[in-house]
Formats: sequence, C-alpha cells, structure tokens
Amino acid sequence: MTAHLSRRDRIAVITLDHPPVNGLSLATRRAVAAAIEAADDNPGVDAIVLAGNAQIFCAGADMTELDGPKVLVEPRLISLINRIEGCSKPVVAAIAGTCMGGGLELALGCHHRVAGRGVKVALPEVKIGLLPGAGGTQRLPRALGVEPALNMIVSGEPVAAERLAQVPGQRLFDRVVDAAEVLDAAIALAAEQAAVRPLPRLRDLKATFASAAVSPDAYFRFARNTVAAMSRHMPAPVRCVDAVEQAVKATFDAGMTFEGETFLALMLTPESRALRHAFLAERAAGKVADLPEGTQPRNVRQVGVIGAGTMGTGIALNFLAAGLPVVLVEQTQDALDKGVAALRGVLEGQLKKGKLKPDALEARLALLQPTLDWQALAGADLVIEAVFEDLAVKRQVFERLDGIAQPGAILASNTSTLDIDAIAQFTRRPQDVLGLHFFSPAHVMKLLEVVRGRATAPDVLLTALRVGKRMRKTCVVSGVCDGFIGNRMVEHYFRQAGFLIDEGATPQQVDRAMERFGFAMGPFAVSDLAGNDIGWAIRKRRAVEQPTLRYSTLADTLCEAGRFGQKTGAGWYDHVAGSKPGRTEARPSPVVAQMIESHRQKLGITPRRIADDEIVGRLVGALVNEGARLLEEGIAARASDIDIVYLTGYGFPAWRGGPMCWADTQGLFNIVQAMKRYARNPHDDATFWQPAPLLARLADEGRTFN
Ligand code: NAD
Repeated sequence: MTAHLSRRDRIAVITLDHPPVNGLSLATRRAVAAAIEAADDNPGVDAIVLAGNAQIFCAGADMTELDGPKVLVEPRLISLINRIEGCSKPVVAAIAGTCMGGGLELALGCHHRVAGRGVKVALPEVKIGLLPGAGGTQRLPRALGVEPALNMIVSGEPVAAERLAQVPGQRLFDRVVDAAEVLDAAIALAAEQAAVRPLPRLRDLKATFASAAVSPDAYFRFARNTVAAMSRHMPAPVRCVDAVEQAVKATFDAGMTFEGETFLALMLTPESRALRHAFLAERAAGKVADLPEGTQPRNVRQVGVIGAGTMGTGIALNFLAAGLPVVLVEQTQDALDKGVAALRGVLEGQLKKGKLKPDALEARLALLQPTLDWQALAGADLVIEAVFEDLAVKRQVFERLDGIAQPGAILASNTSTLDIDAIAQFTRRPQDVLGLHFFSPAHVMKLLEVVRGRATAPDVLLTALRVGKRMRKTCVVSGVCDGFIGNRMVEHYFRQAGFLIDEGATPQQVDRAMERFGFAMGPFAVSDLAGNDIGWAIRKRRAVEQPTLRYSTLADTLCEAGRFGQKTGAGWYDHVAGSKPGRTEARPSPVVAQMIESHRQKLGITPRRIADDEIVGRLVGALVNEGARLLEEGIAARASDIDIVYLTGYGFPAWRGGPMCWADTQGLFNIVQAMKRYARNPHDDATFWQPAPLLARLADEGRTFN
C-alpha cells in the first residue's frame, strides 16, 4: 500500500508511504482517496490527519507518470484534492518533511496545515516548464497573499515553513512547531477543530495584496515584464503570472479552468518537454544496468589528491565540502603552498559572499593535510591524481602509488584524454583503477564523468558513483575513449566552428548565433576563456595520430601569433580593459579579421554569407553525430546520459534538453537530410558528415534517440 490508515482515538491518520518521495502516483492517489472515503464514512472518526514522514511529506506528481495515461485516470490529483476539501470532517495536513509541487497542492486542499520548523516548501513546476496544475496558482495566493505566492510560483524555489508563517495575515500554516512534534500537533489541532463548522476552505477566501494601495493591473503588468525579461526562452514563468492574476480577478472555478488549460498547453511546449526530459535524464544518469546484484560500495573515509594545480585544488575542495579528510600531495613545497593558498582563497571568497560560515571554513581547512610525503597516502581509501597530462608522468605516479596505497584503495585519474586502460596497467591492481573526470572549476561544475576501464571492478564503479553523489555531482558513466563523452564530441563542434570561419562567417557571428540558440557563450568566446593553446596542443597530437583529419588551421595561426585568449589579452577577440574595474571586454579584432582574410585567400575561398540556422545546424549536428557514434560504441549507455553531460558540463541550454533531445525534437530524418547537405560542401569534412549508422537507422525507422 502507498498510504496507510490508522487511528489515534477519534482522529484518523492517513500516512503516505510511497518511497522514496511519496510521489502522487495513481496507486498513491487511489490509496489516499480510499482512506479519506473510509474515514469520512466512519462515525467513530471526528477528524482526519494527512501525514508523510519526517523527511518528506510529499514531493508531488510522479514524474514518470506525467507523460503517460495514468495521470488522467481518476482520482486525478485535482479530484483527490477536491474530495479532501469537500470532506465533511476537518482534514489537517501534518507537514514534517519536504512539501513540494503536488504535495503542497494536496496540503492546500486540506482545511488546516501544521508544519515543522525547517521544512522546505515549494511549487517547483516552473522549473520543468509548467505551472502548478492542481490548484496551486489559485489556492496559494489565497493562503499567502499575492506577492509572496507569485514569488514562490515564478521562482519555484523552496522556502522554509517558518518564514512563510511570518507573512502577515497568512493562512497557509495554522501552526509551525518543532519538526518532531508535527504529527502530535496536527492530531491535537484536528481534535480541537472536530466540531467547528463551516470548514475553512481556501477556495472561499480572496487573494489579496500586502498593501491595499496596490493596483492589480499595474502589479501584474510589472510582474509580467520582469518575468519575461528574466526568462526570455521560457513560456512558463509568464503563464504563472497570468494564472495568479486569475486568482485575483476571476472566481475560483474560473481560475481553476484557466490553470488547467494553461497547464495542458505548457505540457505540449518543446521547452517543457526538454526540461522534463532533463529532469528524468539526471535521475537516470549514474545508474549502471550491468552492476551485479548485491554489489556493495567500498568504504571511503579518507581521500588522497596528487597534484595541487588547477584541478587538484578544486577536486580537494569537493571532498572537504563533503566532510572527507584529504591528503594533498605535491612535488615541491612551492607548488604545494600555491595550491593551498588557491584553495584557501576559494573558501575565503565563499565566506565573503556569505556562502560559508567562519567555523565551516575552519572545519574544512582542518580536514586538509597538505604534504610532500607520499607515505601519507597509505591510509587513503580513494586517491585521485591530477598531475600533468603526460602519460609518462602518469606512469610514474601510478607505479609509485601502487607501492604505497593500501589494498582495496581506489586509484583514480582525472586525465582528460589519456587511456585509462593503459594507466590501469601501470599498477598491479587494474580492477581498482578508474577515471574521475572533473570539469573546471572542479568545485563549481556539477558534471563528473566516471570513466569505467576494461578491468574496473563493479564495486569500484559503484563506490565512485556514491562518492560523486556525496559531493553533489551529477555523475555520468563513460567508457574509455579519447575525450570520453563530452570532450570527444566537443572537438567536432570546434572543428565545425573553424570551417565556418574559413567559409565566410566571423567569430562574432558564430558566437552570436550560438548564444541566440541558448549557450551562455559561443565557441570562440569559450576558446578565448579556456585558452586557445589547449586546443592547439590537442591538434598537434591529432596531427600525429590522425594525419588525414581535416580541420581549419586558422586557430593554429592565432596561437603562433601568441593569441591564446583572455590570458594574453588577445585571441579571437581583443580583450581590452572594460568599464568595470578589473574586468575586460571582448571586442572584434581587426588583426584577426586580417588573418581570416589572408587565410581564406591562401585556401582560395571566396567567402559566402552563412545563415545562423546553418551555423546552429552544423555545430549542434556535429555533437549529435558524434553522440550517436558514442552510443553505438557503448561509450555512453543512454542518449540521455549524453544530454546530461552537455547540460551540466558544457552550458547546453536546459530548455533544449541536450543535443540528443534537440535532435529528437528536430526529427532525426531532418537531421540526416541536413548532414547529407553538409557533406556536399567542399570546404567541410564529408567523411564526418556520414550519418552515424545508429542515427541513420533510427531516422529510417522514424524513431528517436531518447
Ligand atoms: P596543473 O598544471 O594546474 O597542475 C598539475 C599539478 O600537478 C602541478 O601543481 C604539479 O606540480 C603537480 N605534479 C606534477 N607531477 C607531480 C608528481 N609527480 N607528484 C605530485 N604532484 C605533481 O594541471 P591541471 O590543469 O590541474 O590538470 C591536471 C590534470 O587534470 C591533467 O591530467 C588534466 O588533463 C586534467 N584536467 C584538466 C582540466 C582543466 O580544465 N585544467 C579539466 C579536466 C581534467
């Protein structure tokens, strides 16, 4: 059963019991409806309490049912809420744990609500491109007042119950008590209210403003403009404003109709589909289908990090934040001091911004043991190396580590490009070796590619995923290949960007097109930020490994001229002192324009006008085709894993759902047709534009990646 009915004297207690989050699946709705029916009919019951557990009251709709038929089967959530509101006896919601979305709407249908201090309450539907569709937009403004309700609905952010209880005149919570006392307090309130009639229903209240002087028209105009400016690509936030306006201006029933119609319309938007896809994809990522049943993670109580450079310090910060002691090893005192200073600098920055309390800063630093002594790694359960990207250096490090690390310790490499299977062979325990590919800055970026070597043991993989989760990373498992999932794909994206310049586009035009598509930065701005020398080094290596691979040599010309990007003040753009102190601004560079022109002359190319659509089609198409190859090779387990890599590691616009989701939305047939067109372009790489066999097959069969 997903809900239980019990009794406390003359009070019926209905307890939601649908782990992990008491989602309102059809089974749960049926169980609650049956329990309400039974309690309402029972003459021995005077009042009803609806409860969850200490962690969670209810997290709302069951996302896995949202796109299927079950969501429409009675009792639908709206019907259940109406049934509760129409109950002949008082129903009190006992909210001792997180209360979100449909869970809050369910509580709003009750006659009274008791919440625990510290309990988080939210209507987060906007984050998946929707609005609350079970009365939230109509009842919350009546319970809380228009302004705070609209803020919650439009932002989707959780708010602590005790803060909401301070809103003057609020009717959301009757009582806020210690979380451990919520159930008792709710039962007591139910007993007190047992004989009180009429029952208070939020639908009977008016939604009011904090100040009587507010003109509703002016308020909603302002709210709509503000929200529209903040969420250019998203239809949902503005629709939330529209719905709350109905709560003020229309009857309750008319407002509910408006909300329902708007919800259905938003469900069909590509933005909401993409965001829902991303939500489920994130939960699927990091699940490994072929882990033998009963695999248990190893214990990780102490961590070692080798190398206190850019990545090593960021990686260490993650473990410290997760409360794990870290031994940080360097080769020279100077490098160690620099690393520790950098790490401390980040923590102090967080302190200044109020993101970290002084005692937390001290606690984190107390967990750090910087040292030049490798023997200090002997007690570590997990060691990650982040030394120079050179196989010979990695060999030295892993051979030495193999001699020191305790049996069963997990040995990980943060390499971006080197072969994890080769690295594993530098040890006598390849089963304990895997890749943990963090993204820079490692303490900020959510993505962690967990690279599974040929020999990696299942429990090592599972442990890495658990540790990743503990650090609040989004883990995606990748097989071994050059660049793993993300960087292998992005290389083709940058290659296409180069061809586009050869043919007639400017770096500014390409960047603008990709920014309009939704990336925060286009490829050339990104290159300038990361340093053009990084790509240069990769291309030099490629020239040896794959001498026939075509690419635009213009980027090399830039590097030969020392135009490495922001760090040298010049790259694809000129980076000049900006109006804000300490900030630079990127300006189109006449020098680069000249370089481009002579480069084209050398190639004998007469520049042509390239439409933004073609820029997007080729850059994102390059990701899609390589993504399809990764799927075929089994490097990525799911198309949605690739989407998650791009959403969390590469700034792909969330509301487009990732490259594979984008391709599905465009239609794979159309994607293949476009690739065939690109393949006919003499300045492009026809071999690359051969649709990956998987893509071609899915397109033929009219199917999708996801
Ligand atoms: P870095 O040059 O900033 O730092 C490397 C550090 O390792 C240096 O401080 C160096 O003194 C130290 N080191 C070298 N050999 C050592 C040894 N034998 N023992 C102890 N310390 C040693 O480099 P980084 O950017 O932090 O990159 C480190 C690794 O992370 C590389 O494999 C790189 O490919 C990978 N990586 C880098 C990025 C990035 O954006 N920088 C992203 C993902 C992965």
